[in-house]
Amino acid sequence: MVKIKSPEEIELIRESAQIVSKTLGMLAKAIQPGVTTIKLDKLAEEFIHDHGAKPGFLGLYDFPNTLCVSPNEQVVHGIPNDSPLKEGDILSVDCGALKNGFYGDHAYTFEVGEVDPAVKKLLEVTKASLYIGIAQFRQKNRVGDLSHAIQSYTESFGYGVVRELVGHGLGRKMHESPEIPNYGKKGHGKKFVNGMVIAIEPMTNKGTKDIKQLKDGWTIKTADGKPSAHFEHNVALINGKPELLSTFDYIYEALEIVSNEENPFRKSSLKS
Ligand code: MG
Ligand code: MG
Repeated sequence: MVKIKSPEEIELIRESAQIVSKTLGMLAKAIQPGVTTIKLDKLAEEFIHDHGAKPGFLGLYDFPNTLCVSPNEQVVHGIPNDSPLKEGDILSVDCGALKNGFYGDHAYTFEVGEVDPAVKKLLEVTKASLYIGIAQFRQKNRVGDLSHAIQSYTESFGYGVVRELVGHGLGRKMHESPEIPNYGKKGHGKKFVNGMVIAIEPMTNKGTKDIKQLKDGWTIKTADGKPSAHFEHNVALINGKPELLSTFDYIYEALEIVSNEENPFRKSSLKS
């Protein structure tokens, strides 16, 4: 069942989401050739505690760490380890925080040093597809409208849309109803209503959509070994329109990137 959130509950989810946003911003500068993902994990764990929250993933379904770190051909759910990142890698970092009983959960795929232009393009398209999906999170639309928008945009570039892993409702639980797939049919699925909070998270493969799970029981990688990207935001439906509870602003500040991609979905200054 979909849990509709009160304005107060949405503010608490925003608080947790913002802690994740700041954590990803803090990591942006640390993600360099030579750094290990276990070092990034420790930095994130300490940072989240320092902000009065608990890591949202640590211990959830018995996951062993604070971050899911998934380089290159890994799609999601990679476990931090002591092998150093290399120039030209990409690294998806997914992070959760729990505060006041509510979760934040989002992800960004970072470039490590100078990245191949074809892989940069994969990152650009995956991130653009996230905002295309967010724009469909409107009253009267249905899950399928959002899913279809992400899928059709992504597939127009010949990329593979992962089927087995999906976005989700977010609140007192990390994964609530409804599921938000990155593929689907217009007009199908649950109707969006005010007070819904969801995590939208396209996972896009440069090659085919097919994935495999590693023997560690967690890591998901592409079946063909080609790179995969993952971007995620937390979004509330307020006054019929999508409003971001998370932000990549802290990442962009750290990396000196200028972007206005979030502007259409920022908290309205007009009270209604
Ligand atoms: Mg996530
Ligand atoms: Mg998620």
